[in-house]
Amino acid sequence: MPQWNCGCENCTLARRGSSVKPRTQDSLLVTGEHGNLLVNASPDVLRQIEATPALWPRAERDTPISAIVLTNGDLDHVIGLFSLRESQRLVVYATDRVWRGLMLENAMAKTFARFEGQVTHRRLAIGERCEVAEAGLALVPFAAPGKPPVHLPGEPHAEDNVGLRVLHAGRVATIATALKDVDAVRSSLEGSDVIFLDGTFFTSDELVRQKLGTARAEDMAHQPVRTSVEQLAAMKFGRKILTHINNSNPILREGSEERAWIEKMGWEIAFDGMEIAA
Ligand SMILES: [Zn+2]
Ligand SMILES: [Zn+2]
Repeated sequence: MPQWNCGCENCTLARRGSSVKPRTQDSLLVTGEHGNLLVNASPDVLRQIEATPALWPRAERDTPISAIVLTNGDLDHVIGLFSLRESQRLVVYATDRVWRGLMLENAMAKTFARFEGQVTHRRLAIGERCEVAEAGLALVPFAAPGKPPVHLPGEPHAEDNVGLRVLHAGRVATIATALKDVDAVRSSLEGSDVIFLDGTFFTSDELVRQKLGTARAEDMAHQPVRTSVEQLAAMKFGRKILTHINNSNPILREGSEERAWIEKMGWEIAFDGMEIAA
């Protein structure tokens, strides 16, 4: 926010420094016992690292990013990985499906073959608890109904898009983005101290009404926030945060009716530099 080629009302307000705060693309860092797990490598990852002193190198060649986890293979979740190619050892957690699309069907992946062990893939499987020893926390991936990346043709698969329960020190943070059916993941959200939920569009026809496109939210495998928030209204969470928000979404506009409703329903809207202490 703003989107480089977008002159919609929100993007214009963001450029003017008005009622819409500029934001980089969805990414999240979880700090565990031994290190930091980066959840998705957004196209803005380099700016995000520079804006976060805890991620600055501690030696001549170093990164405090202990591991990276990818929730799907969409470019806005993975392309930042290629910006981290400077002969740094990386450990990447991803389902076989996401890994194959990213590394095995992609000539650019050879940039990670500069030396043996430049990138280590650790396999995520739905429903299987996975210890992230590098960071000192655990993940439980769950199937999050979404869609395969637009650049990878073929039948959709449960491992195209996962949600994550992140477990650390008796607490649970749950992340579920790029999601088309919130009801389907209800049981995976239960008992979360904090939940990060897909906030892409507020309504189905948001792009159409603003003349920004012809697709409805559902065509792009996103359940509109208005529906998701209503479906989860009876569930209890410590904190409820919307992330992965498209620039067209009126909840980004301070003072909008939609923003007031979201806040009344107890939801917060993620912003750059937001920190949540356990
Ligand atoms: Zn826009
Ligand atoms: Zn995305």
